[in-house]
Amino acid sequence: MKTGRILASEIAAYLRCPRLIYFRSQSEDAEQRIIDTKYLTRLILKELALTHHCTVARDGVGDADDADNTAAIKQLRTELKRITDELLVLYRAELSGVDQQMVVDAADSIDIDVISAQIAEYVRIIGKDALLTKITPCAVEHTLYSDALGIAGAPDKLVRINGGILPYLIRTGEKPDQGAWKPDRLQITACAMLVEETFGQTVKYGIVEYARFFELREVQIRLKDRRKILELRNRIRRIKDGKMPDRPRDAPCEFCAYTENCVTQRSLASKFF
Ligand code: SF4
Repeated sequence: MKTGRILASEIAAYLRCPRLIYFRSQSEDAEQRIIDTKYLTRLILKELALTHHCTVARDGVGDADDADNTAAIKQLRTELKRITDELLVLYRAELSGVDQQMVVDAADSIDIDVISAQIAEYVRIIGKDALLTKITPCAVEHTLYSDALGIAGAPDKLVRINGGILPYLIRTGEKPDQGAWKPDRLQITACAMLVEETFGQTVKYGIVEYARFFELREVQIRLKDRRKILELRNRIRRIKDGKMPDRPRDAPCEFCAYTENCVTQRSLASKFF
């Protein structure tokens, strides 16, 4: 990676806690993570979301006479079983030492009925073809670079709608009542800017999928968010150059793998100042 370039995903991380950027940039090793059932559920949800276009394309899925969504549920179960069986192979390095039973438990917490009901609802509202156009990837995790922006990123998918390419992010947490959470909105804006630089087009919106609910949110790419991206890029660069940021008051330390380093650095700093 070229020096000075930041990742679009670092924008969301910065908004969670700027110190995450600092610790990640200081470590040569793979990023530290707490690997628990919740984390595994997120990985499985993402893999499952990447297969939804295959599920929706199946005969019978979304049909008006399939009131119980039997066809979608059957296909989602098949995909979920395959992903559960293959997860440790797919993420071999990251999940080394993880027990298969933990993966099974994580998969069990995914509510297939919620996802299948939402698939049926979208088919009812916009039709199967329009839904397939929205969610069928033309590329998955395709890395985009822009030297002009000083940003790189790999949106979960790129989709082609009305001849244009749009970025698409899969999120595995809770969904907001409407729109997208701020970090998701800014990350999709950064991805949209990368798409524009790469393909020479204007991107008016991107899509964020809240995968637990198969909730698709179109996010308009706004001028003030574009400005914010450039401002955050500069702040992230300074942190990656070695400037330790302050710890935000509402930092999510409880779920952070850097708690120990963070406390040590804090007590060292308080010794000197
Ligand atoms: S321990 Fe808390 S303050 Fe430190 S990096 Fe993690 S989330 Fe941020």
